[in-house]
Amino acid sequence: AKAKGRNRFEFYSADLSFQATERMNLENDLRRALERGELSLHYQPKQCLNDARLVGAEALLRWHHPTLGDVPPDRFIAIAEENGSIVELGDWVLEQACRQMAAWQACYADFGPLAVNLSGPQLRQPHLSARIGELLQSCGLSPDKLQLEITETFVMSQKEEALPVLQSLRELGLQLAIDDFGTGYSSLSYLKRLPIDTLKIDKSFVDGLPDDPNDAAIARAIIALGRSMQLTVIAEGVETKSQERFLALEGCQQIQGYVLSRPLPAEAFAERFLVARDV
Ligand code: C2E
Ligand code: CA
Ligand code: CA
Ligand code: CA
Repeated sequence: AKAKGRNRFEFYSADLSFQATERMNLENDLRRALERGELSLHYQPKQCLNDARLVGAEALLRWHHPTLGDVPPDRFIAIAEENGSIVELGDWVLEQACRQMAAWQACYADFGPLAVNLSGPQLRQPHLSARIGELLQSCGLSPDKLQLEITETFVMSQKEEALPVLQSLRELGLQLAIDDFGTGYSSLSYLKRLPIDTLKIDKSFVDGLPDDPNDAAIARAIIALGRSMQLTVIAEGVETKSQERFLALEGCQQIQGYVLSRPLPAEAFAERFLVARDV
């Protein structure tokens, strides 16, 4: 039994060091991914449930690795958050998204806002709102065309720090959404003080709709909470028409998910969802 145990241990540690090496390689490659042009943004539409209007889009980061192919964002963003490179990556995402939005505004009918995900370390940067203000100005983009999605987990874990940063972003005229709502143990009295526009129901509660009674109860509660606070409520990860119908019936205002479209490269997104400007 002892020998067996040891074998198992060796197997386990070999596996761990394989994982550690793999991670180190990814970390090194990620450092160069920006310069090598391996990163891009995809765009996923958001739709109004009442009238099926396009009410914005979310920019999602993609990394096409030269040998590994597409690396899932959950994987490389976690690494970038730990080693701090998310700040540089996040700056690139913000600039890229704003330039794309400005380019779309020049030739397509008005839509928006465009949402960008912001992670904790980015929110701790000094002068964040001033820098975003300069970026918007240099792109000729009105601040209400940019929405920032910030996870509930981060906002709730950094209450003291987060509030003034969110306030300064809000004063700039940006829209703010709490992402993955329902997963992060919100304090409701704190939530009430946050200068936000939107609650985004996490996909994990959308998955079981309409039949799972727990998911249905949670989705209903978030929609009611949001509406009572005059916030827009959007559901993410909506994949089926029956999920969409449930959400519409319960008074959720917006949806995002595969039922409308997967995230698309800029050209494909514009071709499918944007309408040429009248001239
Ligand atoms: P998220 O912000 O919750 O984004 C939603 C994720 O769900 C995206 O995964 C999207 O592609 C996926 N999704 C959308 N609709 C559906 C659906 O109907 N079904 C299913 N199964 N999935 C759907 P993605 O693009 O892989 O991104 C994963 C996470 O990585 C994001 O979760 C976000 O936390 C993070 N992320 C992506 N881009 C950025 C970025 O530029 N900056 C930061 N800080 N985080 C990012
Ligand atoms: Ca998001
Ligand atoms: Ca989300
Ligand atoms: Ca989510």
